[in-house]
Amino acid sequence: MEFNKTILIERDDGDATLLEPGRWATFHCRQCNTVLGDSMSVCGELKCLDSIIFCGVTDNVEVSREMECGNKGELANCIFSSLMCGECGCTVGKVVHAAPQHLAAARSLFLLHKMLVACYVLDTCSMVKASALSFEIKPLMESINEVRQQFELYFDDMKSRLAEVRKIRSKVDK
Ligand SMILES: [Zn+2]
Repeated sequence: MEFNKTILIERDDGDATLLEPGRWATFHCRQCNTVLGDSMSVCGELKCLDSIIFCGVTDNVEVSREMECGNKGELANCIFSSLMCGECGCTVGKVVHAAPQHLAAARSLFLLHKMLVACYVLDTCSMVKASALSFEIKPLMESINEVRQQFELYFDDMKSRLAEVRKIRSKVDK
């Protein structure tokens, strides 16, 4: 949905676009728009369960007391509880308590199902389906290389400024 003076229009851009770092968003129940989480708590995406991984969610998310045991698909041999919207009672995701190695990274984290949540992107003031966005985290080495390149640019800039200052000082000293 997009705020357009008095109406909200739902946007569906087709292909998933990456929600880049620095772009803030809130996540809402698609049924009743209750706030479930924000982009500062997003740890990535679990494609095999079509879910966004959160390290924390709002108090509006209720964890079911009932623990389920998966017996097929990706959740085979997993113990998990459902996450529900505290406002409308809809299921919005899962929290995995115990899992085999392939889901080890998601243990004890909150998994909000992309099809069940909407995403409000703050800088564009637009509501988009979470399924239209990608929350993949770049590999750490890629991020380190980007930061290193930035530092090298700053360092070169500092060196040339220092050289200019030295040139001016030598003229003044004469
Ligand atoms: Zn709801």
